[in-house]
Amino acid sequence: MINGAKAGGSRGSAAEERMEVMSLDYIIRKAADEAGISETGEIAINELEYRDEVRRICEGNSCRGYGKTWACPPAVGTLEECRSRVESYNRMMLFSKVYELKSSFDFEGMRSAMKDFKDVTEAFDKGLGKDFPPYMLLSNESCHRCSECAYPDESCRFPEKLYHAIEGYGFVISELAVKAGMKYNNGPNTVTFFGALLWGRS
Ligand code: SF4
Repeated sequence: MINGAKAGGSRGSAAEERMEVMSLDYIIRKAADEAGISETGEIAINELEYRDEVRRICEGNSCRGYGKTWACPPAVGTLEECRSRVESYNRMMLFSKVYELKSSFDFEGMRSAMKDFKDVTEAFDKGLGKDFPPYMLLSNESCHRCSECAYPDESCRFPEKLYHAIEGYGFVISELAVKAGMKYNNGPNTVTFFGALLWGRS
């Protein structure tokens, strides 16, 4: 899903463009802080790798999200379609939140963290505001907003709040974390979820 308002106006001087980029970076940082995001890091779009083997894991359906919602494959399109959606932007920021667990068997804690991260993504989305130029947000796996997803018979009921699963784009999250200079593993009895903001068009 692509969120955000259309970028308007004509291009100004190089100084004006720099100011615009700086103010977008400020809005992003502020929205990330207010949403409770723990860490962020930027990745060059041309360094991204879209791995077919990740899509094969999706098809194995160990997360039980495959073919169940509009947020996961196959609904998000082929890897090529995902790549071309991503490459229509020129900046990508990975973001994460770290959650404490009671133990490594705290499945309830993991489930609640997974749900909370969707809320964090939505809060970040709201913080970017309606005037932010076109952007796309990816979040953690699946979508549990509706008790029963409309997929595949009807369109998504909340397209403005539909965040595609970042894994569905063929990304290995631990690789993304390294490229972004972020911690993938934040220690024993924690779980860290990741999402991504894509924005900027040349
Ligand atoms: S918002 Fe509802 S209809 Fe849309 S993908 Fe999520 S669960 Fe499905």
